[in-house]
Amino acid sequence: MPRTPYIAANWKMHKTVAEAGEFVDALLPQIAATQNDVAICPPFTALSAVVERRHGTAVKVAAQNMHEEGSGAFTGEVSAPMLGEVGVEAVVLGHSERRQYFGETDEALARKVPAALEAGLEPILCVGESEDARDAGQTDAVLERQLQADLAEVVGGKLGVVVIAYEPIWAIGTGRTATPEQAQEACAFIRDFVRERGGPGEAVRIIYGGSVKPGNAAELIGQPDIDGALVGGASLDADDFAAIVKAAG
Ligand code: PEP
Repeated sequence: MPRTPYIAANWKMHKTVAEAGEFVDALLPQIAATQNDVAICPPFTALSAVVERRHGTAVKVAAQNMHEEGSGAFTGEVSAPMLGEVGVEAVVLGHSERRQYFGETDEALARKVPAALEAGLEPILCVGESEDARDAGQTDAVLERQLQADLAEVVGGKLGVVVIAYEPIWAIGTGRTATPEQAQEACAFIRDFVRERGGPGEAVRIIYGGSVKPGNAAELIGQPDIDGALVGGASLDADDFAAIVKAAG
């Protein structure tokens, strides 16, 4: 069975509540006919507004992070059940910006992924190598290490619920895109990993992120093992994001 393309908009720390509402109103009519899975990942403050505005459509709402515990003395954090309560359906975990600037560890991710699943959230797990690692021929080793650690507590049968985003760090927000061949090779490697872990290799969605734009989306997503895109910069403009959703078929 063919995999449904999955296109997610990672807004990072952009858009007020008012701006989020305007974006959703501009996006929805443009993608009304799509059969693709579409997710918007706003900052915490705009989650409820997007949940309300997309009401009655198939657009999912995803947070950009969460804490692994359900509640507790963790000032400034938000838990998976709290996200579920406001209508959020998915959560980005392990984005390289969180790993790089906020000390996100594989140990924490090994707890976050099951906590998200337990709360009924779809994890969008990000993995990817640095430029140095790629130059040293270490791409597969880095991906394997991250996948092994971050998915350590997820049983094979549940791996199909996780969306895995291959995001080479050197391509994020840099305007440098992985070539379709590089992205395909890494996504195929990830699919093999899922298979070897006893997961549904044919069903799991593996998406690419790193300077995806309307002009390069179709070729990237057209690769056999690339099932969609996690889009940062180009997702801030409703017309550009709609064009990427349509380019995914
Ligand atoms: C991202 O934030 O996940 C991302 C891929 O950003 P950009 O599209 O701007 O490279």
